[in-house]
Amino acid sequence: MKRGTCPKCTSSQVHHSACVMDRGDGNAALCLALGRSDPIEARDLGQFEVYVCRGCGFSEFYVIDTSELE
Ligand SMILES: [Zn+2]
Repeated sequence: MKRGTCPKCTSSQVHHSACVMDRGDGNAALCLALGRSDPIEARDLGQFEVYVCRGCGFSEFYVIDTSELE
């Protein structure tokens, strides 16, 4: 859906968010990611972005920067 069309219903009304809220384990307002760097730097690695079709709700997640993956 990065190209702006839903593959399920062909709607062109696609919402994009660069941050998917992660509220697990008492997190207040972190973005969903695959992991974190060391505890001192504590930088998110593999942060997800999401595209959501406004027509049918179909959603796709992508890792924003795949170079961060080990
Ligand atoms: Zn759709």
